[in-house]
Amino acid sequence: MTSFPLSPGSIVGILGGGQLGRMLAMAAAQVGLRAHIYAPEQESPAFDVSAFQTVAEYNDSKALKEFANAVDVATIEFENIPLESYETVGQIVPIAPSAHALSVAQDRLAEKTAINNIEIGTAAYAPVSSLAELSRAVELIKTPAVLKTCRFGYDGKGQTKIEATSDLDKAFHDLSSDHLILEAFVPFDREISVIVVRNRDQMTAAYTPAENVHENHILKTSTVPASLPEDILELAKSIARRIAEELDYIGVLGVEMFHVRDKDGDQLLVNEIAPRVHNSGHWTLDACAVSQFENHIRAIAGWPLGATNRHSDAVMTNLIGDEANSWPDLARQETSGLHLYGKKEIRAGRKMGHVTRLFPKTNP
Ligand code: AMP
Repeated sequence: MTSFPLSPGSIVGILGGGQLGRMLAMAAAQVGLRAHIYAPEQESPAFDVSAFQTVAEYNDSKALKEFANAVDVATIEFENIPLESYETVGQIVPIAPSAHALSVAQDRLAEKTAINNIEIGTAAYAPVSSLAELSRAVELIKTPAVLKTCRFGYDGKGQTKIEATSDLDKAFHDLSSDHLILEAFVPFDREISVIVVRNRDQMTAAYTPAENVHENHILKTSTVPASLPEDILELAKSIARRIAEELDYIGVLGVEMFHVRDKDGDQLLVNEIAPRVHNSGHWTLDACAVSQFENHIRAIAGWPLGATNRHSDAVMTNLIGDEANSWPDLARQETSGLHLYGKKEIRAGRKMGHVTRLFPKTNP
């Protein structure tokens, strides 16, 4: 039986073995906890730094049950774990975030509905399950718009832009799903994200919002603080906190938002939420006393949260594909934190590491 707070020596189970699992496992070790990583790939980056490992498919219920029986609490490092698998683990050991929070974040329609229900803005949207419904949705939402699969989309995969002249038949069939969402295209000024954390005592804390730039649909840089007025940064944090509260969330939640500046002034619209530590929060490893990874571990372990304020401004740059080969030069930069994920094979578009440059803090 698990009792909280977990004592040092307890075991945190993490479903997923990528770089997020790796950085979570290191954060667990830092506070005296041990990580058990469950991942299907033998060569998972998180295995290098974890006390225990399971190599098994995510739908292997026997392996999932053994894993659950071997840990004191379990969590996820990516959101496409099958919900039933997470529930299987949750029947044996406490899981955080909850299966409900995961189910909402796994489905763009459920996610947008939950967010709008608490009167937080998103792009206008409509569900699409057939070609006829797509035509009606385009009339309602107007063009330009973005047609997305509700599930399993990432890094721009599973979405297509709809212009006035688009071939709807082709767009619908290209996505080959009957569970789609049409979203109005948001003419955003910038994209920002907030890393928020909520613990078992229902305390929440949010890090300074980051401004994110994507290249080929993959996050390239996160700059902190986002170049927005202080009141908008505070609004972004309060939106993220309210979503975490609404979901009765435990752990770290990434909230991506569009900042729109139009004749009505500034507006923040939530694009999506990630029920896990987030790439746009990697800067917290170098610019905060307690990183998003440690705070996730603290939250799920029933510990108090660590401080989320930053001691420096930061620019985090992902090292994608062969950019990681520049590590000798990057290692020479004294004000940079270099993080390499130990992935054996460099592939185009693969996140191999990141570097965070620190600068003196400008404003609160
Ligand atoms: P997503 O997978 O929803 O995070 O989308 C990936 C990227 O596509 C976002 O970071 C935006 O740059 C862009 N995008 C997604 N949805 C919209 C939208 N409704 N309007 C404008 N750009 C969007």
